[in-house]
Amino acid sequence: MTPEEFRRYGRQVVDWIADYQEKIESYPVLSRARPGEVLASLPAHPPERGEGFEAVLADLDRVVMPGITHWQHPGFFAYFPANASGPAILGDLLSAGLGVQGMLWATSPACTELETRTIDWLAELLDLPARFRGDGAGGGVIQDSASGAALVAILAALHRADGGTAGREGITRRHTLYISSQTHSSLEKAAKVAGIGSANVRVVDSGPGTLAMAPAHLDALLAEDAAAGAVPVLVCATVGTTSTTAVDPVPEIGEVCARHGVWLHVDAAYAGVAAVCPELRWVNDGLDGHVDSYSTNPHKWLLTNFDCNALWVADRAPLVGALSILPEYLRNQATSSGEVIDYRDWQISLGRRFRALKLWSVIRWYGAEGLREHVRTGVRLARDLASWVAADPGFELLEHPPFGLVCFRPRWDGLPDGEADAATMRLMERLNASGDLYLTHTKAGGRVLLRMAIGAPATGDAHVAAAWRRIREEAAEQAAERAD
Ligand code: PLP
Repeated sequence: MTPEEFRRYGRQVVDWIADYQEKIESYPVLSRARPGEVLASLPAHPPERGEGFEAVLADLDRVVMPGITHWQHPGFFAYFPANASGPAILGDLLSAGLGVQGMLWATSPACTELETRTIDWLAELLDLPARFRGDGAGGGVIQDSASGAALVAILAALHRADGGTAGREGITRRHTLYISSQTHSSLEKAAKVAGIGSANVRVVDSGPGTLAMAPAHLDALLAEDAAAGAVPVLVCATVGTTSTTAVDPVPEIGEVCARHGVWLHVDAAYAGVAAVCPELRWVNDGLDGHVDSYSTNPHKWLLTNFDCNALWVADRAPLVGALSILPEYLRNQATSSGEVIDYRDWQISLGRRFRALKLWSVIRWYGAEGLREHVRTGVRLARDLASWVAADPGFELLEHPPFGLVCFRPRWDGLPDGEADAATMRLMERLNASGDLYLTHTKAGGRVLLRMAIGAPATGDAHVAAAWRRIREEAAEQAAERAD
């Protein structure tokens, strides 16, 4: 493709994306494609001769779009949001256009140094403690995902716990990891990948009401394991759990970890970015204490297209110690000088994308003010929805911290628990089949609940009101059908 052809098709692609943004509400939120349908529409063999890009764009409409679930649709309330925004898309496009592979400082100094500055900006926007900033022993880095960040944190913690033995000899002792029943599954997966194994992942009690990790039980488990000869490696506390946005008591957990000399990782994948708002900075409670690593995802609720996770460590030495390998072909003067950061030593893979460009674009376009406004809109809309649910005698609301998630269920008066859960699941399927909204579910307090996560940039008051109307109507209709 010549630059001239690129210019022509590039304009078409940008127009296509802008059109998509304008008409996104005309699509059913959840794709109606049946398993194998997209696959069957695609030729089984690659073309022998190159095709024009018009053909790709035509198939995008014909084949790909019917198989797309529209995450940026204002009626998308499933999982957690995965925000996209104009500046992030353009930043990603520029990254693709530059085609930089930033594994070393030397392979593109700007890729490294823009990341260092941008991640420090983000730390400042979130008001993270100085110990995580790059001008001391700590520092931040962009990872692909919170899952990747958790694995990196575990490897750094292992390195610190056994002085690098695991890196040299493999796991030779019983190393243990501590989570709660509410911790994201990526921690258990990361433990498996790190060689700790799920049998050595200990599950700390979480309180029945708050679903927050119980520090006293953590303390007891750590003491028990150490007495039995295990080497506790890492505790993961969560700020904003996936199921219900529960918040673990990080200050108390930090004190327990300090007493036992265990690495504390705080997973704030979804809720951490809420700290752009001063009134929500309590999400940082405890970070100035005994927290070793902290992770949050601008790719969830901070307007930055997937993938963009921010990981900070209070001490970068164990991280680099765990992950640095220097083969001859990567040796270079800048690395040897010790004056530069090579972020390949801060992650699993060698190669790295220029992700900082999109985060930098987002921060510059919106400014602190715009980012705060986005988070505040999500929080306000969720608060409105929660108040409507609480005021409706036919529904039950789960109390939880004030982010963008609301969990609730119809009461289904007269139905035994098991049937009520099945009815809630059926309601969710009916709603999702409508094409107007997309919700997911969770289980808390032994009950199935609908999870409505608000935070797509396109979602406004009218969308949340319409979704709530729809939920009430559909629940009433379902109850009436049952009565017939
Ligand atoms: N941690 C929490 C609390 C999450 O909610 C999620 C995803 O929703 C993750 C980790 C995993 O995030 P990622 O997809 O970035 O790996």
